[in-house]
Amino acid sequence: MIYLDHAATTPLDGDVLKAMMPYLTEIYGNPSSQHAFGRRAANAVLSARDKIADIVGVPSGSVYFTAGGTESCNTALKGVCAANYEKGRHIVLSAIEHPALISSAEDMKRFGFTVDYVKPDIYGAVNARDIAAAIRPDTVFAGVMSANNETGIIQPVSEIYDVCKQRGVFFYCDCVQTAGVLNFADFPADGIGFSAHKFYGPKGFGGLYMRGNQRFHRLLSGGSQEKGLRGGTTFVAGAVGCARALEKAVESADYNNKRIAALRDKFVEGALRKVEGTHLNGRGTERLPSNANLSFDGCTGEQIAFALDLNGIAVSTGSACSSGAVTRSHVLEAMGLPDERVKSAVRFTFGKSNTENEVEQTLNTLCGVVESIRKANGKN
Ligand code: PLP
Repeated sequence: MIYLDHAATTPLDGDVLKAMMPYLTEIYGNPSSQHAFGRRAANAVLSARDKIADIVGVPSGSVYFTAGGTESCNTALKGVCAANYEKGRHIVLSAIEHPALISSAEDMKRFGFTVDYVKPDIYGAVNARDIAAAIRPDTVFAGVMSANNETGIIQPVSEIYDVCKQRGVFFYCDCVQTAGVLNFADFPADGIGFSAHKFYGPKGFGGLYMRGNQRFHRLLSGGSQEKGLRGGTTFVAGAVGCARALEKAVESADYNNKRIAALRDKFVEGALRKVEGTHLNGRGTERLPSNANLSFDGCTGEQIAFALDLNGIAVSTGSACSSGAVTRSHVLEAMGLPDERVKSAVRFTFGKSNTENEVEQTLNTLCGVVESIRKANGKN
């Protein structure tokens, strides 16, 4: 089996599991409890928060634990919009955001908000000038991700943040795809979100940083956890695992990024050379080291993904959430790619356990798969 879907999720790292184990077994206290069991758990949560805040480069008190990227997007967008309801009801998002942020914005329409979506260029990058043009006096929230989950294209977040800051608009950067891969400092924002399972940590755990003076309403009412902004007993092992995973990912990012990019480049070069009618979607530079988004003339992405799966190779046709139901990629569509390119796109995302041998095997299988699909589609 060859796993080339690391943008969807990554396997749990062995060291991370080791760090989590005591908190899944003998250290089982509720971190809100006052006794020694609780204090041990609370200390673990405290040091996990400190470690994560230190890596992100923000004060520990402004990091909130969540159940992952989706909850971070929901909390930031809905929380900021609700808190600024009297000030304005306009939201600006890039058209290539993850459904977690887009659906959150769409939900706010029921409360009188309007949403403007800013399209990227044909290479998949959003322009700061276009964000500036979309901002209105009543805009209260703007969101552009650090790198897109389908194309891997890294966005010019610093410029976009400047534009928002100058206009007094809260800016959220969904850092789910870059956390543990690229420096947080390269993606300045008033709020950022990340998710542990994208950097070899546990699924169902993530974080949200909100700049200190930012007003936002909570989504989860309950106990006083997370300063009363997110009720519910903290998943202690999740916090410990998230912190250890982020620490390990950051420590080895230079090495892993170089190695993974070399595998990806070898794969892209091989696919373009060996399989006629192959196109690389998005710009070749300023892309996540792991990502290759390719389209194949005369095929559909689903046909290729299905045939590769039958051959033991796991890839994706778009974002993980949309690949269960066959929906067209809103990202590639927003880039203005022709219909045929959108329909035939496949995402290959490499990770730290992939090998050169796997790249070769995938290329060989891909050649045969594309050829037989084209023949079956009468496109040969
Ligand atoms: N944002 C981006 C850019 C993502 O790629 C994903 C997951 O694929 C999410 C948000 C949602 O994260 P989670 O799976 O932790 O809810």
